Amino acid sequence: MHLSSALNLDTLGPCECLLCGDTAAAGLSICNPCQHELPRIIYACPTCAQPLPASYPCPKCQQQPPPIHRCIAAFHYQGAIRRIIHQLKYHQDLAAAELLGKLMAKSLESHPQEALPQCLVPVPLHPKRLRQRGYNQVVEMGRPIAREFGLPLELGLVHRTRPTESQQTLSAVARRRNVHGAFEAVYKPRYEHIALLDDVMTTGATANELAHCLRKAGVPHIELWVCARAANAQ
Ligand SMILES: [Zn+2]
Ligand SMILES: [Zn+2]
Repeated sequence: MHLSSALNLDTLGPCECLLCGDTAAAGLSICNPCQHELPRIIYACPTCAQPLPASYPCPKCQQQPPPIHRCIAAFHYQGAIRRIIHQLKYHQDLAAAELLGKLMAKSLESHPQEALPQCLVPVPLHPKRLRQRGYNQVVEMGRPIAREFGLPLELGLVHRTRPTESQQTLSAVARRRNVHGAFEAVYKPRYEHIALLDDVMTTGATANELAHCLRKAGVPHIELWVCARAANAQ
């Protein structure tokens, strides 16, 4: 399926590039020149998406394979992508979610896929954070991806058991501790293959914890699709 086929151009209003205000490319709210400038990840570790000179398992994943079978990150968390994600998270700009989701879908289509997952599970927010923001930005980003691949967004499967501190300023060890036991499966999933969705990944602590929780609940095959990969925290 092509992106343009899933899109009703009438509902978009004037198509201006979110970044420069120029005329956007068909079906996207970004112009072609700005799209070409986006910080794409070309080669990366297949299980943690750490950018590398070629695609091979990074030393960390070789030593200790993560609970995630495959991780795809579309972009480096920098430049225009970082700005668009900030627009979405902190400025209620839901057009940014639509754009990021479509760009992610495009990137995912360029990765060979043996079998599609049976559903998409966005990393949940704690209800308190959800009330503050009014929406889960990962769910909003996930909608165009779900549409594009014809997959259900599974929103009720897992929840956060407690609010967690923002991971931003924490070290890698502190991040793992911060999210330990933070997720719980609400019911016994019948899925064998799930893709988790997240907006930004740094050490993978949050996604790994969620994957552990779902593996324990009986889901054998878990992958992770993220929009942007930040440089690893120490
Ligand atoms: Zn532009
Ligand atoms: Zn790795």
